[in-house]
Amino acid sequence: MTDPTQNTRILLASRPHGEPTSDNFTIEAVPIPVPAEGEVLLRTIYLSLDPYMRGRMSAAKSYAAPVEVGTVMQGGTVAEVIESRDASLQVGDVVLSFTGWQSYGVAAAKHVRKLDPTLAPISTAVGVLGMPGFTAYAGLLEIGRPQPGETVVVAAAAGPVGSAVGQIARIKGARAVGIAGGPDKVAWLEELGFDVALDHRSPTFGDDLKAAVPDGIDVYFENVGGHVWDTVLPHLNTYARVPLCGLVAHYNETELPPGPDRSSRLMTSILTKSLTIRGFIQTEFVKTHYTAFQEDAAEWLRDGTLRHREDVVKGLENAPEAFAGLLKGTSFGKLLVQVGDDPTRTS
Ligand code: NDP
Repeated sequence: MTDPTQNTRILLASRPHGEPTSDNFTIEAVPIPVPAEGEVLLRTIYLSLDPYMRGRMSAAKSYAAPVEVGTVMQGGTVAEVIESRDASLQVGDVVLSFTGWQSYGVAAAKHVRKLDPTLAPISTAVGVLGMPGFTAYAGLLEIGRPQPGETVVVAAAAGPVGSAVGQIARIKGARAVGIAGGPDKVAWLEELGFDVALDHRSPTFGDDLKAAVPDGIDVYFENVGGHVWDTVLPHLNTYARVPLCGLVAHYNETELPPGPDRSSRLMTSILTKSLTIRGFIQTEFVKTHYTAFQEDAAEWLRDGTLRHREDVVKGLENAPEAFAGLLKGTSFGKLLVQVGDDPTRTS
């Protein structure tokens, strides 16, 4: 664990070319920052690692500005208030914040959200009850619009987004088919109640998918792209909806994959099957769907219909390696770095 008398932080040292490595980051210790009026000093408990961070490491134009080289890597955090210069927050409060890859951070009190540790474990604020859970909820219900009896297929199904997508699809009366890498993840999806779970690394994946969707696919929740997308595309039904949430198989690419060019086949499928392929960034739906998500997800979590899993890596210094693994499937469930003690957990 980090030195509690200093702020340990991880800076982006250079932009990765391909897979991020430890050389792309610098770790340093600096004095703990001092909050100004209206701000709070936060001690990081959990740092959330999410695939979008790969985009922030790149200078390529995207929906959000990149992290500048030489500055602290961005990221969602669950943190404890250790000094408050705002009447709305007290020392000891636990908040959802965005203080990034560091052990202490300062934030405006109005930019953090106080959590109630008696309602749910505080780490869920960056997982099933936070951004990934919301992404699943809004993308599936607003774009996928699954109907009872329809078949919903989801990629990266053992991650925080995909596992919520499959479970919400079942709550809405659809059949859920999950695609994940490896037997352990497949077994967990079966435990969660997915109707079928498939291993995309299996040599029989294509045949397995065909057998799993005898009536075709009505909704495909896309998280990965690559060979999974190629395998899914022929099975999409007329009027199928594809919430295009992420393309993690391509985030480390340095050039276009080798040919042949299949774009004409894709465009023909979109045309002849009247497909809706709709990209989205979850923030688009915050105003319209966040309140309903919080109510529904909290209830589903309480009554056990929505389950989740966390993969907790201890120590901020391990964040770069854990992040590189996230993009390759080495994590299992919502990936968190435990940066400091969790005062809400006794063991
Ligand atoms: P995950 O924890 O699911 O991690 C990504 C997973 O993708 C890996 O664990 C791995 O799982 C799988 N994967 C990686 N490479 C491949 C590949 N080549 N082929 C197939 N699967 C692969 O991440 P999240 O649940 O946090 O995020 C899921 C997706 O949602 C990401 O693409 C992310 O960028 C996107 N996202 C989009 C948001 C939006 O607003 N649009 C918001 C949040 C997330 P496995 O071991 O099973 O192969």
